[in-house]
Amino acid sequence: MQTGRMRIELATAPGTPAHPNEDYASVALPAFGRGGALVLLDGVTPPRDAYGCLHSVPWFTARLGGALGELSVSRPELALTDVLHKAILRTADAHRATCDLSHPRTPQATVVLVRWDDERVEHLVLSDSVLLVTAPDGRVEPVLDGRLAHVPRASLASDAIADATVRNKEGGFFTAAADPEVAARAVTGTRPRTEVQSVAALTDGAARWVEKFREGDWPDCVALLRKEGPQALVDRVRALESADTERVFLRRSKTHDDAAVIYAEL
Ligand SMILES: [Zn+2]
Repeated sequence: MQTGRMRIELATAPGTPAHPNEDYASVALPAFGRGGALVLLDGVTPPRDAYGCLHSVPWFTARLGGALGELSVSRPELALTDVLHKAILRTADAHRATCDLSHPRTPQATVVLVRWDDERVEHLVLSDSVLLVTAPDGRVEPVLDGRLAHVPRASLASDAIADATVRNKEGGFFTAAADPEVAARAVTGTRPRTEVQSVAALTDGAARWVEKFREGDWPDCVALLRKEGPQALVDRVRALESADTERVFLRRSKTHDDAAVIYAEL
């Protein structure tokens, strides 16, 4: 029995207050029907040297995220890969005249995109943010873009995604930058809406609760989100980071990373 009730919560926090948050999270809920979309991006921090672009990472994620949210709900006939393709192109067009978009460190982001209507729930995941899809029976399926896991460890810097040598190249991993053709490399899927109880999207700064600190598995993470909400997950990650003074779990990673979580019960 569909009640039309949706519970949607999001939380985000910068890794360091002095630096702009380069994660991006938004939800689009059309005025009619039971449809909607969510967008979660993790902007890749460029090094301090020039990277051929006049713009900041938050400029890029706001442009790309805004386009993804708008196109997802205004163009329901488009597949999510086409939505991503068009959104990358629109964002690239916004600074093609002033910036060198062929630079390997041009602004870029990981992408989680989910769209639902009365009939179905569609998803798209590119690079290392995480989508957790929970069925009505409680089974949790993590949707991960596995390419990053296959990059040889030796080629990964302490923060893997900051290493331009393996980004957006064959055998490496792919993020949404200026080339729309990357959309074809995203992990996508569709489920009947009746088979989805909730979806949760996490940037890696929030997924640390599972992936670095091993506080629980993905179903435990969803249980926490259901019970206490996204802000509680982010708060717990911050507490774990601060407590890991010996860097047992963090090792060479930055102490705090931008973190963003969207939790949606459909
Ligand atoms: Zn630019």
